[in-house]
This record gives sequence, structure tokens and C-alpha cells, in this order.
Amino acid sequence: MSAYHNNNTFWFEIVKQIPGQLGRAGIIHTPHGDIMTPAFMCVGTRGQVPFLSPEDLREIGAQAMLSNGYHLRNASPDIAREGGLAAWSKWNGPTLTDSGGFQVMSLGSGLGKVVSMEREKEVTNRKKEERLALVTETGIEFTDPVTKELDFIGPKESMEIQCRIGADIHMAFDELTSLADSYEYNVEALERTERWAQISLDEHRKHEYDLGYKQSLYGVLQGGRWEDLRRSTAKKMGQMDFDGYGLGGAFLKNNLGDILRWCNEELPEGKPRHLLGLSHPDDILIGSLMGADTFDCVAPSREARHGRIYTHDGYYALNKFKESDEVLEPGCDCPACRKGYTRKQLYTMLKSEDKPTRYEYFRLATQHNLRFIIRLTEEIRQAILEDRFEEYRDAFMTRYYKKKAK
Ligand SMILES: [Zn+2]
Repeated sequence: MSAYHNNNTFWFEIVKQIPGQLGRAGIIHTPHGDIMTPAFMCVGTRGQVPFLSPEDLREIGAQAMLSNGYHLRNASPDIAREGGLAAWSKWNGPTLTDSGGFQVMSLGSGLGKVVSMEREKEVTNRKKEERLALVTETGIEFTDPVTKELDFIGPKESMEIQCRIGADIHMAFDELTSLADSYEYNVEALERTERWAQISLDEHRKHEYDLGYKQSLYGVLQGGRWEDLRRSTAKKMGQMDFDGYGLGGAFLKNNLGDILRWCNEELPEGKPRHLLGLSHPDDILIGSLMGADTFDCVAPSREARHGRIYTHDGYYALNKFKESDEVLEPGCDCPACRKGYTRKQLYTMLKSEDKPTRYEYFRLATQHNLRFIIRLTEEIRQAILEDRFEEYRDAFMTRYYKKKAK
């Protein structure tokens, strides 16, 4: 037991509040280490961030890794035998798992996280039988996209899987609604999510010390874009014995801030909150202002692999700079920029026929984009600590979005 940090317990400490706002800088203490917040969790769906070793992650200041309960379900007995996700992945730091609800629901609706109404219409117009997931009272039936076999996951199954994987933080099983779902449907789905939250809690408590250390559980808030639903569920879930909260849903850019405010005004102040699956700089800035403590998203690493590079002046396509002798972003402290790799060199690596060379590009570019987002959260934290969050945000946003819009 003594091998674990923080006396093998989990708690959240608020270090500094943004004056008059919901946002704060804090520390999440977990059995595998502390997370200084606001923080970005790097996504290693299957226990590894693609192309990065645990050392590569540490080199860019990563504090925590998020993996997926659904994708690791078959490996979960092996993971448990090796002492849990931190040991099995060799990351040995704080970890979080998603319940898998979002992934199996996505099979049904084919939706991304933030979707446009046009895309939504196109999806709902598809024939019912083309949908791969069906929601029932006990969980979600779905067709496995690889094996084509019928499968099922509900709150009970998700908790069993997550407790075998043994991340420091787990997510309760929830039903994600889409932007096209009606108010009536959201009421129905939300009531189901609240019932599943209680089942998740009861089931989780039976297994939370199975691997010898405290595994924590976050309740997940849904409720679409409706203030009454968001507030009522935050109030209800806030009274339940969760260790923290996941802020879920399909958001539009223009309502993200309001939705977060409605939820976080009702939730207990002293528990940490994770905004699920968003990582554009403006999402992280509004999230930090509105009281989200941690973030995750696959976008920075996925975009790096596609040659989209993040900078303080917006992102750019690497193929537009294939003759450039500049580093990815002058002044950046990621390994690629520090070692002086030029855009031209990296572009050549990306296009190389040689697989190890191409993989080295993936590694360096992923580190750069992740470092950009991690540094953003570090700077936000510092700005909160020094009482200059709004000034920092305005300067960042002006530079990032002005250049991009030209
Ligand atoms: Zn860099």
C-alpha cells in the first residue's frame, strides 16, 4: 500500500479561484500521483498514446493519460493481473478511463463530439437499420464494428471492466444524446443516465479497492442544451457520492460556456470536473473559466499525424511549408523544435516510403501538438495563480484566431 501516493486516497484541492468566476487552479491527488489543474489528459485509447512511449509523454509535461474502457475490455483481465493500467501501460502515472458509452453510442449515430446541425440531419435521415446501437433500460446493445457480432454494455458491465483496468479515475456509464434529439427524448435519456449513475456507484463501490489502491468514480452529466435539465441533473448527481464529475454532451461552440456554467453552479465546488472530449484552445479557455479542471481529446495527436500543426498563430498544414527551414513553431519547447527539426525535414519524413522514418515524424509531430495544448493549460494555471486569467485569455485568443481567420 505504501507504494502509492497520497496515502492511497483521492482528493481535490483548490489552490486559487478566478475572482468572481467558477474557474480555479487546483491539485487532484490520486494514488498514482498529483495532477496540477487545469490539465490536459493525453488520450491513449488502448493504453498508449499512438507513437509515444511513456518517456515521450513525460518529456512533454503530460500529467495524466486517458484510456477507454470499451477498447480495453478484452485486455482487462491481463491488465488486472499486472496490477492495473498505470503498471500495465508502463506510464506509472495518473490515469482515467472513459466508460465506453460514448464509443458505443457513436456507432449508432456516427457523430463526433461537436457537430453541426447539417451533419446531424444527414445522420438522422439514415435508415434505422443502418444504426449500430440500440439503447435499452439496462444498457446499450450494439454491433461490434470489427467482428460484426452483437454485443452489450451497461453500467454494471462498464464498472466491472473499468475496475479490472484500474485507472485512478473512472466514468459512470451514461447515455450521450445528440443535438438532434428532442427535449422529450433528453428527459427520458437523462432519467436513464441518472438511474445508471446509481447502478454505477453501487457496482463501483464493490470493486474500488480490488487492485489494492483507491479507484475513484466520476458521475457524468448530460441534459443536452437545456438549462433546466442541466441544472436539475447537476443538483441530483451533485448529492450523490461521486468523487468528481464528467461534463458530457454534444456541444456547439456558442453554448459550451453556458452549459458548463449551469452544471458547475450546481455541482459541489470541492470536487474535480472533467470536460469530456474537447481540446480546441477556445474550448479549454472557456472550460477553465467556467470551472472545468481537466480536459482530453484525440484531436491534437490525430491532427499531427495528418500534418496539421498547432501554433500560437493558429494551426497550419505542413504541406504548405514543405520548403521551409523554420522549426514547427519558433520558441516551442517540444523535442522536435528544441532539436531544430525543420518543417521541410519533417514533411519529407511524413512522406517517406520508409516506415520507421514516417513513424518518427508521427512521434515528433504528436509531441509538438500535445506539448502545445499542455503548455496552454500550464499557462492558464499560472495566469490563474497570478490573477491575470482574463488578460492571458484575451491575448491568446487575439493572436490564435486572428491569424487563422485571414
Ligand atoms: Zn514544437
